[in-house]
Amino acid sequence: MERKQFKTEVSELLQLIIHSLYSHKEIFLRELVSNASDALDKLKYKTLVDGKTPDGELRIDLSFTEGEKRTLTIEDNGIGMSHDELSENLGTIARSGTKHFLQNLTEDQKKDSNLIGQFGVGFYSAFMVADKVEVTSRAYGSDQAYKWVSDGKDKYTIEEADRPVCGTTIVLHLNDEGKEYANRWQIENLIKQYSDHIAYPIYLAYDQNTYDDKYNVTGSEHKVEKINSAAALWTRSKSELKEEDYNEFYKNTCYDSENPLFYVHTKAEGATEYTTLFFVPAKAPFDMYHADYKPGVKLYVKRVYITDDEKELLPTYLRFVRGIIDSEDLPLNVSREILQQNRVMANIRNASVKKLLGEFKKISEQNKELYEKFIEQYNRPMKEGLYQDYANRDDLLELVRYKSTAVDGYTSLKDYKERMVADQKSIYYITGSDEQALKSSPLLSSFKEKGIEVLLMTDDIDDLVISSVGKYKDIPLKAVNKSGTMDDFLTDDEKKKAKEKGSEVTKKLKKALGDRVKEVVVSSRLTDVSAVVVTDENDPSVQMQQLLKAMGQQGYEGSAPILEVNAEDPFVKKIVESKDDKFVEDAASVLLDQALLSEGVMPKNPAEFARKLHSLLV
Ligand code: ADP
Repeated sequence: MERKQFKTEVSELLQLIIHSLYSHKEIFLRELVSNASDALDKLKYKTLVDGKTPDGELRIDLSFTEGEKRTLTIEDNGIGMSHDELSENLGTIARSGTKHFLQNLTEDQKKDSNLIGQFGVGFYSAFMVADKVEVTSRAYGSDQAYKWVSDGKDKYTIEEADRPVCGTTIVLHLNDEGKEYANRWQIENLIKQYSDHIAYPIYLAYDQNTYDDKYNVTGSEHKVEKINSAAALWTRSKSELKEEDYNEFYKNTCYDSENPLFYVHTKAEGATEYTTLFFVPAKAPFDMYHADYKPGVKLYVKRVYITDDEKELLPTYLRFVRGIIDSEDLPLNVSREILQQNRVMANIRNASVKKLLGEFKKISEQNKELYEKFIEQYNRPMKEGLYQDYANRDDLLELVRYKSTAVDGYTSLKDYKERMVADQKSIYYITGSDEQALKSSPLLSSFKEKGIEVLLMTDDIDDLVISSVGKYKDIPLKAVNKSGTMDDFLTDDEKKKAKEKGSEVTKKLKKALGDRVKEVVVSSRLTDVSAVVVTDENDPSVQMQQLLKAMGQQGYEGSAPILEVNAEDPFVKKIVESKDDKFVEDAASVLLDQALLSEGVMPKNPAEFARKLHSLLV
């Protein structure tokens, strides 16, 4: 017999799980049944690919013993585990970062029993109800079985054992907390509640008393009864399924404690036959912005589970969608490479995207409140779609939402368009990291005066996305913090005049500021401030450049801003009229720095700025 120590991480995690999930201890059964079902999926797949048939019906068997030493046994005839797999799978933590994540959960989050399954730690939940767990397993294709035993504290043992066929038997030696589960009704209820959708039959063995005519116990009879529906939910017809069924299925398979925002169940017949069942979670998955996020859609072929780790099933911007795709036409031994070039898969993927976007659109029109919840969580990934998914860009443009100077909350581009004033040539927006700062930007004042709405874009990707989109229904999208925007409001004559009038001002300031600015232009829109900084139409906004630098983008230097000055401003006039070179230099520098400051950009040398400002004040 080998004695082994859990890795420290595992011991710590065990304790964390046992303590935090205590109030939901009954979920251990769902976790173990779900593992058994996965093991059956894997065996089914393997035998099909190998051109064999599994020995006997693929099934899960539950049994229990009452009395002093109560036990609960969960058995499957699935893929099983080898000696090394027992040690690796039951003695380590599957997903990197799990411990860190669990340690940082709030007390409330810790109580959320569904979080635990997301991290591949389900098996350990057995130790909430058992003080000893025995796992006897024989791997498919091997003659030798092994038995793994642990009390869940810090050690486990592995020894050779007997098992007639491949599969796994888990015996829980129930502790005081778990003794209630050695009971027929408890088990049936838990399976109904959490595991009814499992596609394999779950049998429960129990002894039932027999009676004579006068209801005297005459003996007992051993019975084995199927206690779940054993049909994959998505294969059932929509008309026979209630919202509740979908919600329960979602919560139990996608590890969420909340109902989904909505779901879409589609059966496609015709050239390509497939079923999809998609869910949109109420809260964005915790790893939505991690580069190594776990995809939420599982692939099945003719009800046989193929993979849950294929990021290409849906485009990345839809990575928050959970659910399944079950195809009738893909080959069972489909590899990742084949999948990525497969025409059938491409059809399913395209149709699924269309279906989902169509559903989002429908909700946006029919259920504003629900759509708001959707936007709160998924506006940003949908914006990613604007540049990832050119083919669906027009649809996506109808789905994304923005804050605006004209309305509270979010607006669509369509609604903006309807509010446009007569002769308005463009849709205007301003980008930056902070909504409040954007709202008080001096650049907005002339728009306010003209009664023109400006969209406030605060997502880090807005700048990039919107400049790549360029237009909404042929109306140009223009950033107010970029140069050239005001050209919309000037006649050709006025433009020419502004240029001439500006020449003296711009020359003098450009000379004083040198490379610190790309250009100096005279503003046709500033009224209450002396100057603002803007960028070239093709450059990221000043705030965005600041953000990119802060994120440490390799070698990112940014480009010098354009200084837009108010030629009527007394301070600017004073600079232009001055003959004192030193004054001109200091004043121009302060003019630029204070314009940068109002965009939230610190002067490169704050002490220098303060000194110059002081010299101007005295
Ligand atoms: P998860 O199931 O989320 O991966 P678990 O801690 O529940 O995490 O299980 C760890 C691993 O142990 C599983 O991924 C699987 O490889 C293996 N395993 C657990 N139960 C069984 C079983 N009944 N049959 C075969 N393998 C199993």
